[in-house]
Amino acid sequence: MSNPVEEIKQKVDIVDIISKSITLKKRGRHHVACCPFHSEKTPSFTVSPELQIFKCFGCGKSGDVFTFLQEYHHISFSQALQDLAKITGVKLEQSPAFTKEELIRKKILEINQEVAKFYHHLLTQHPLGAPALDYLKNRGIKPETIKLFKIGYSPKNSDLILKYLSQKNFSTNDLIATGTFGKSQYGNRIYDRFSDRLTFPLVNYRDQIVGFSGRILPSSANQNLAKYINSPATPAYFKSQMLFGLNLTKDNIRTQNSAIITEGEFDMITPYQAGITNIVALKGTAFTKEQLTLLRRYTDTLILALDSDLAGSIAAQKSIQTADSFDFDIRILIFDEKYKDPDEVATKDIAHFQDSLKNTVPVWDYLINSSIKNFGIDSPKAKKQVLQNVLPFLTKINNSVIRSDYLSLLATQIGSDPQSILEESQKYLSVQSPKEAGESTSPAPIQSSQVEKLQEYLLSLVLTAKKPVLLAKKLKKYLNTFQKPTLKTIIDQLLKAKKYSPATFQSRLPAEVQPTFQYLYLSASNPQILSEVRSREIKKTIASLETINLKDQINKMTQQIAQLEQTGQLDELKSLEMEYNQLLVKLSRIQSSKD
Ligand SMILES: [Zn+2]
Repeated sequence: MSNPVEEIKQKVDIVDIISKSITLKKRGRHHVACCPFHSEKTPSFTVSPELQIFKCFGCGKSGDVFTFLQEYHHISFSQALQDLAKITGVKLEQSPAFTKEELIRKKILEINQEVAKFYHHLLTQHPLGAPALDYLKNRGIKPETIKLFKIGYSPKNSDLILKYLSQKNFSTNDLIATGTFGKSQYGNRIYDRFSDRLTFPLVNYRDQIVGFSGRILPSSANQNLAKYINSPATPAYFKSQMLFGLNLTKDNIRTQNSAIITEGEFDMITPYQAGITNIVALKGTAFTKEQLTLLRRYTDTLILALDSDLAGSIAAQKSIQTADSFDFDIRILIFDEKYKDPDEVATKDIAHFQDSLKNTVPVWDYLINSSIKNFGIDSPKAKKQVLQNVLPFLTKINNSVIRSDYLSLLATQIGSDPQSILEESQKYLSVQSPKEAGESTSPAPIQSSQVEKLQEYLLSLVLTAKKPVLLAKKLKKYLNTFQKPTLKTIIDQLLKAKKYSPATFQSRLPAEVQPTFQYLYLSASNPQILSEVRSREIKKTIASLETINLKDQINKMTQQIAQLEQTGQLDELKSLEMEYNQLLVKLSRIQSSKD
C-alpha cells in the first residue's frame, strides 16, 4: 500500500490506542469515558470502533486515531505518524516532515538521556560521586530508588561530561539548547549549570527526560547559591506541565482515584519508596492549569500535602480556586505538627503517614477550622479576622450548593447570624475577574430548534437500529418531512441503500455531511437498547414531532378564524371550524397515546 496513513489506520484499532491513555467502558457498540479534554463527571467522550473515530459530546473534540494522539500528547501530525508507524510496524518510506522545533526537541531528549546516564553513573559508580551518595544514604534513600528515579551527581569539573558528550558527536549548539549547559560570557567556554549538585531528571508523563533539577549538597563550598535549580524552559521542557513522579504514579493515581500533591522532589520520593504510590510533586506551591488538566485525566480527587500556610497564602488561594474550577474534590493531608514536611513523616513515621491518609479533611473545612484556631472567635475583632481569612476562599467555590452550605457552616462555627455572613460574602463576590464576569454574559451557543433536535434524535435511533434501512422505509412518511439539508442527504442515502454498515455508509456520504452522521451515530448514548425500548422511543419522538406540527397548524388556524369572524365570511368560517375541531381531536389522541 502506498499511503502509510491509510495502512496504519487499517492496522491499528483506535480503541486500543485510546485505552493506553484513558479507561474506556464498553457501552453497546461504542466505548465511553470521561473526556480527557474537558472536565466532566459523566462520560460524554465516545469512541466508535466501527467508524474508528472519537467524539466528545461535551466539548466537541473529535477525530481519528491521529487526531487523538496529537491532541492528547500535544504532538504534531508527523510525530503521531512516526509513533503509530512504530506500533504497527508500518514502514515509512520518507521520514515524516518534522518542524525545526521538533527536531531540536528530539535532539534535546536524546542528549538529556545521555546526561542522565552520565550523572547517574558518576553518583553510583565513581569516587567523585561518593559524598553525594552518602548524603542520599543518610536521608534514607535506597539504592533501588536512586536507580528508579535515575538520581545522579554532576561533578564540579564540567570537562568530564563535555568530553563524554563530545564522543557522541553532539554539537555545542545542541548542548546549549538543552538548557543544561551555558556559555561563559567571555570566550567560548561551556559549563554545566548543575555542576557539584545532586541531579534529578525531570521526566514527563510520557517517560521522556525533559530537563533536570539540581540540589546543592550540604558539603558544597557554595552554600550561598540557590538550594535547588531547574532547567530553563526549552522546546522540550514546559515547566507549567511538569509534575514530578507522574510517569511512575499515574496508573496508581487512576486506580486509587486520588493524587497526593507535595511540593518538592524528596517529598515525593521518600513516601513513594515507603509504599505511597499515588503521589506527585508540584515543584512549587501553586498549581498551573496545565498540571490540573493533566491530573484530571487520572483522578477527580486531590490530597494536598503542602507545607505552606494555606489560609494565609494568596498563591494557595488562587491555586485552590483553580483546582476547584476543574471540579476536583480537594482534601488536606494533616500531619502532626512536630514534622516539617511529607519527606520527614515518610522517613520517620510511615504509619503516621498512612493513618493521616485515612483522615484527610475537605479543604473548606480545613480553612474554616485552621482560621478559627489561629484567630479565635472570642471577640468581634477575632471573628472579623476569621471572615477576612476564609471568605475569599468560600465565596469562590464553583458549586453554588457547596458554597452556600459552607457559608452556613461558617456562620454556625463562629456563632454568627447566617444572613449577615451572606451579606458579608457579597463583598467578595462582586470582585470577580473580568474574564469570569464576561463568561456569564457571553451568548449561549447556537442550538438547533426543538423540532430539529427531535428529528436528529429520531434519525439517530434509526441509524443505530439493527436494520436501519428497513426501519427507514417504514418511517419514510415522517423522515421525508425533514427540512435540514444534511439530514435530508443522510435519509436519501439510507432509503436508497441495500445493505448498511456504518463505515461504508459514512464513506459514501459527501465529506461535509460526514460529521453530522458521526454525531447522530455516536450520540445515541446506548445504541444497543432493546428493540422494544427503541420502538417506544421512536413512537414517542414521532408523537412529539406531530404534536409540535399540529399545535403550529392550530395556532395559524386560530388567527385565520379570528380574521374570518371580523370579515363575516360565514361559510368559510364554518368549514375552517370543522377542520379546527378535527385537529384538536387528533392532538388529544396523540397526547393521550404518549402517556
Ligand atoms: Zn470533552
